[in-house]
Amino acid sequence: MSECIFCKIRDGEIPSDKVYEDDQVFVFRDIHPKAEVHLLMVPREHIGSLNNLAPQHDGLVAHMLRLLPQLAREQGLDDGFRTIINTGKGGGQEVFHLHIHLLGGSDLPGF
Ligand code: AMP
Repeated sequence: MSECIFCKIRDGEIPSDKVYEDDQVFVFRDIHPKAEVHLLMVPREHIGSLNNLAPQHDGLVAHMLRLLPQLAREQGLDDGFRTIINTGKGGGQEVFHLHIHLLGGSDLPGF
């Protein structure tokens, strides 16, 4: 059995506030939101991070990127949104299953 928390959410072993799913990805609300809207988009396949992407994932990556504005619109983020992908310990990644943060709906701090 997988020890990965996002695989457990995918498999329904851990509850989540899911807002979208299809055959490639699932999307749920972050448990510790950093903005009014804070979603996590996760591929169904366990891919550790951006470091583990291969050419076979090109279609998946395009799918994820194209889905983000659609989800943002559905969340009412008409004014814009922020996406973040933390990669590796040095990049602040805590869960080692690739995911894209989608944030918005409140004033986001500048970098
Ligand atoms: P990262 O630092 O990019 O790896 O982000 C991991 C994110 O997963 C953090 O923002 C956590 O708040 C979030 N997270 C961890 N466990 C859960 C969970 N069970 N449900 C929803 N979000 C979670």
